Amino acid sequence: MAPIISVRDVHRSYGRGPNRFEALKGVSFDIAEGESVAIVGKSGSGKSTLMHVLALLDAPTTGTVELEGVDTSTLKGGRLNRTRNKTFGFVFQQFFLTSSSSVLENVVLPMKIAGVPRGERRRRGLAALEQLELADKAKNKGLNLSGGQKQRTVIARALVNDPRIIFADEPTGNLDTATGAVVEDILFSLNRESGITLIVVTHDEELAARCDRRIVIRDGLIVDDETEVAA
Ligand code: ADP
Ligand code: MG
Repeated sequence: MAPIISVRDVHRSYGRGPNRFEALKGVSFDIAEGESVAIVGKSGSGKSTLMHVLALLDAPTTGTVELEGVDTSTLKGGRLNRTRNKTFGFVFQQFFLTSSSSVLENVVLPMKIAGVPRGERRRRGLAALEQLELADKAKNKGLNLSGGQKQRTVIARALVNDPRIIFADEPTGNLDTATGAVVEDILFSLNRESGITLIVVTHDEELAARCDRRIVIRDGLIVDDETEVAA
């Protein structure tokens, strides 16, 4: 089967002239649909930069990213936004909840962006909250949730457009061990049971070990790429 994502010789630089810094120095790999992939490495190694490029939130300086065989540099403006919004779910710390809006309002936001009618937004938003065992919190303000409830709300929001790929950047970074384990279990059950491709940046060795594959990045280069062989 053709890969869902294909990355070829991607470079990403920040700044210019003497301040130019190359955060990615030429990375290439394919991701198959349904894989769970951990991107690991020390702080500053380029993990978030790579994740942003994969998720089409940022473009490579040079090199190509194909999504289902489409060169993503050909996607611009509205088409790029629609592709991202329809294909991806994001579990990123910086895409946090609006604390003054209700849990349901936060969860339906990607559908609002996609132009889904109000009634259907509500129905699908409540279904996602049901799935994450948060239906009773639909009307709560984001501010009043525990860390685990917030992260489950973020996952519900990531699911409402029925994504093919979930990108998670340190999804358990701010959670205690027990709550983090619940959030991990949810992500892996979505991967296994719904076949959603899971791409996760993490410092957490145990979380990385649960993934089918670990891509190790150091100073902007892939230094290891191991896939678990099924026993
Ligand atoms: P990681 O997620 O592995 O910690 P990042 O991808 O965030 O690493 O950053 C990789 C390198 O690129 C770091 O040295 C960081 O300082 C630098 N960097 C990241 N974003 C920017 C930016 N917007 N401008 C300049 N340098 C940046
Ligand atoms: Mg990072």
